[in-house]
Amino acid sequence: MPPPFRFPVEVLLMLDSAPLPVHATDTVTPAREVAHDHFASGDRVVVVRGSLDGDLHGDDLTIVAPSWHTPTGQDGWRTRNPHGGTRTFSTAHPRYLIHVERHCPECFAFFRALAAELLPQLPPQGCTEGDWYTFTGLDQLVHRDDYEIAA
Ligand SMILES: [Zn+2]
Repeated sequence: MPPPFRFPVEVLLMLDSAPLPVHATDTVTPAREVAHDHFASGDRVVVVRGSLDGDLHGDDLTIVAPSWHTPTGQDGWRTRNPHGGTRTFSTAHPRYLIHVERHCPECFAFFRALAAELLPQLPPQGCTEGDWYTFTGLDQLVHRDDYEIAA
């Protein structure tokens, strides 16, 4: 039995100050092959956007509905950030998403691989926001590796 999937979602609520922008190379996400229907409306997911004191952290989101991911020209998911903010709703590609509410071996393996690649590149202390994701003007989340597709 693998250990239960745990992600420190509670720390997301503590982030009052702006995270430190950092550069890191993520080759794990572009190589991930996950079916669109691996996810469903209502699922709780996270998108890893940075680190907090040496652990990966990111946006805690709820999947709303299927939605076209314009930057890649593929099926994506509309997500809602229950904490609101400037981007309550955005659209993400399935390979960006990680299940958090239930144990999911596929997402767990992806998260482990992501941690193995990213954490050595990130500071062991403090809150960071990596540069491997950005948002388009239409609130579409896009991975750096997908920029060229988007261009
Ligand atoms: Zn999953």
